[in-house]
Amino acid sequence: MIAAALIVAAGSGQRAGGGLPKQFRPFAGKPMLRWSLEAFRARPSISRIVVVIDAASGSVFARCAAGMDAEPVFGAATRTGSVHAGLEALTSGGPPDVVLIHDAARPGVNEAVIDSLIAALGQTDAVAPALPVADALKRVAASGIVENDEQRTGLWRAQTPQAFRFAPLLAAYRALSADNVLDDDIAVARAAGMSARLIAGDARYGKITFPEDHTMMERLIGAGAPCVGSGFDAHRFGPGDHVTLCGVRIAHERGLIGHSDADAGWHALTDALLGALGAGDIGDHFPPSDPQWRGADSEVFLRHAVDLVAQAGGRIVHADVTLICERPRIGPHRDAMRARTAEILGLSVNRTSVKATTTERLGFTGREEGLAAQATATVLLPD
Ligand code: MG
Repeated sequence: MIAAALIVAAGSGQRAGGGLPKQFRPFAGKPMLRWSLEAFRARPSISRIVVVIDAASGSVFARCAAGMDAEPVFGAATRTGSVHAGLEALTSGGPPDVVLIHDAARPGVNEAVIDSLIAALGQTDAVAPALPVADALKRVAASGIVENDEQRTGLWRAQTPQAFRFAPLLAAYRALSADNVLDDDIAVARAAGMSARLIAGDARYGKITFPEDHTMMERLIGAGAPCVGSGFDAHRFGPGDHVTLCGVRIAHERGLIGHSDADAGWHALTDALLGALGAGDIGDHFPPSDPQWRGADSEVFLRHAVDLVAQAGGRIVHADVTLICERPRIGPHRDAMRARTAEILGLSVNRTSVKATTTERLGFTGREEGLAAQATATVLLPD
């Protein structure tokens, strides 16, 4: 049996706020559409993925779908028209036996529901995940006046993906008049006489429609195990006229000795990120014996650790750096350090902390032989 996925990503996303359509915006660390692409791509049973997009979204789609082997198809003014365009595209090169139609605004699709839907097609022409309606239902006039209390018994909210036998669904769409806009593909299938049933849905398959849905769904789907890494670094003072700490150059009567730019703050933070990943330490990734890192900007090290988090499917949610020195004074530069660090981490400034302390003139930092830094980084990693 050949199964294909048809992802609808042609919406302009007006209700979820302006700018880039929501399906291409970052969601829990990657473009929203990519969550769905990765879920379908992970199933060997899905042999082909077609994504219906707006004609203006070609380049942003290409970036979001890099390496996913997904075919873009231009959509129409309505969702119904867009799905029809996607189904017609699937007829080229031999139509599939089964198609799963999915909204890109539902990033919580997972491999389990894809398998369950395909299995359920053995007994029906069409199948969708759904949840029972739990709230009381009211029919309301535009004025806000309740006109009727509706029975919720037996009512379910259908989600996506929805799975169909391909040939009868294509026929149903071809038979549909252009002005007939139905709420979902199960409705189109049933209007053509196809049988349909529901399987258990999940809150994670919910649709992101309004701006407030985004944060709620990110917490529901993007949540992984919080892993906290710690890092420590120290560098000795030597000749020079400045130090670089957390990416900010500060004039000082001495410099810091180190193989790279000796940015102890970012070195500690890089180690904290590597620690959260269990990926060794900064010396493993950038050996001091390697001449290419002589005088290197520590941004390279920090960006490398940030990239490793992304490759692990993780998301940085918090970072805290403490600089330990008597001088130079950190206070006047703290905001600049936070802003630079937040920029590299792809984190908001209010989740990025840089602070400083002294050791009351005790020890090597107290004697101003050198300075030290410690850091923690919190990363959500997939369970
Ligand atoms: Mg160092």
